[in-house]
Amino acid sequence: GGLFSHVEQGPPDPILGIAEAYKKSTNPKKLNLGVGAYRTEEGKPLVLEAVRRAEQAVVSNPDHEYLPITGIPEFNALSARLAFGEDSSVIRENCNATVQALSGTGSLRVGAEFLARHYPVRTVLLPSPTWPSHNKIFPLAGVADVRAYRYFKPSSRGLDYEGMLEDLRKAPEGSILLLHACAHNPTGVDPSLDQWRGILEVAKEKKFLPFFDSAYQGFASGDLERDATAIRMFADEGMEMLLAQSYAKNMGLYGERVGALTVVARDAAIAERVESQLKLVIRPMFSNPPRFGAAIVVKVLQDPELYALWRKELKGMADRINGMRTLLFQELQRAGAPGKWSHIVEQIGMFSFTGLSKPQVEYLTAKWHVYMTLDGRISMAGLNQASCRYLAEGIADAIR
Ligand code: PLP
Repeated sequence: GGLFSHVEQGPPDPILGIAEAYKKSTNPKKLNLGVGAYRTEEGKPLVLEAVRRAEQAVVSNPDHEYLPITGIPEFNALSARLAFGEDSSVIRENCNATVQALSGTGSLRVGAEFLARHYPVRTVLLPSPTWPSHNKIFPLAGVADVRAYRYFKPSSRGLDYEGMLEDLRKAPEGSILLLHACAHNPTGVDPSLDQWRGILEVAKEKKFLPFFDSAYQGFASGDLERDATAIRMFADEGMEMLLAQSYAKNMGLYGERVGALTVVARDAAIAERVESQLKLVIRPMFSNPPRFGAAIVVKVLQDPELYALWRKELKGMADRINGMRTLLFQELQRAGAPGKWSHIVEQIGMFSFTGLSKPQVEYLTAKWHVYMTLDGRISMAGLNQASCRYLAEGIADAIR
């Protein structure tokens, strides 16, 4: 009996389930490539020195008062500047309504709830594949018509640019177009500059509302400006858009849940009204955001010394990941793994889509104790000098 006896066991989270299986394994060679968090060469989580120093400053001046509904004002201003750039017309003309929210996920959710209330089109276009939560966030918020556009091309392990444009041209006018700002998750495949221009042209033609998900600014190329190229290209064209930012990866503030949602409107007066409506979304959802992580971000972005240090450390993380790409590519060739592997070095960001099939992944897990998602995605941050060779040998074995 019991009021909840009818409740059925929910399925395990496909990604967090891998971490559990990894933990249970007693094999000393086990390798966890499921994690979506940065790891050092020693396999340890990293607290950035810039963050450590900012955190000490925050701790030495305790403040546990409520924040305003929209969060720390400086945090919002600095976040918008980080994405759009100092001299962006969006910033100069105050066309942005930017609010602090619960990391990337919460920012997406606040944005989707706002759109469900104030945007007439209920269709959102998601890349195929995409980060799985996108498929849940929009319908739960009331944007019910979720459609996929072609993105990844298995044969080239690159972008299906023609397929993408074809699908976008067929989509309803005014659709919400979700775009990964950089370091597409799970594929690691980003459009080239020319391809971004083509996507922008179609977005204008079709009167789409772009919604950028920016979870990896600076983490992809190591350069904050470069990773904001697509966002700035669209903003410079005067596009109205939404933007969800996360500081989980680029500041390593995963558990602090620091992020921002921006709505870019046509002018400052509209942006002000939009902000008043964002408050009405946030107030009954989580009332106001947490202080600690956002206070750290403000210190890092405001203090020139900490900012410079952060940029250096960010580049360090991106460089290590890119180094692992090169090494894994070399080791795959050394191990004689059948097939072409250049996509490993061409893809960008935390993840790589190896192209391994589900049975091959299952074999790798069973025989080589390599834990990764069944779609063939590996976290590059989970690798180091020694494990690249081990993984390459495992992959070669799984394919043969
Ligand atoms: N969007 C994408 C594409 C992601 O990969 C992630 C994290 O993995 C997020 C958003 C949001 O993460 P968080 O809510 O931890 O900021």
